[in-house]
Amino acid sequence: MKLNIKSGDLVEVISGKEKGKRGKVTRAFPKENRVLVQGVNIITRATRPTQKDTQGGLKKYEAPILANKVMVVCPKCDKPTRIGHKVLDDGTKVRVCARCGEVLD
Ligand SMILES: [Zn+2]
Repeated sequence: MKLNIKSGDLVEVISGKEKGKRGKVTRAFPKENRVLVQGVNIITRATRPTQKDTQGGLKKYEAPILANKVMVVCPKCDKPTRIGHKVLDDGTKVRVCARCGEVLD
């Protein structure tokens, strides 16, 4: 499966307990079919003190979320949308909103 989401995209969570949350993709992991989204899927992990971090304790960080659980938000529709593809006159492939045709790249 090809990942249609790139870092910098605004996405909305479409399933799971964080449904409706929006955030910017900070990293994409095409191989794992996952994306890291700002403010989404924050997990708390207890860490032991290390030499680098002498305090340890509870650390909060974003964990990558399955790409199937998010959809790119089209800035024109302001709604999560399926991604379409279009080839421009100069041969460049771009992603477009399947709803309104807006170029998303
Ligand atoms: Zn659109």
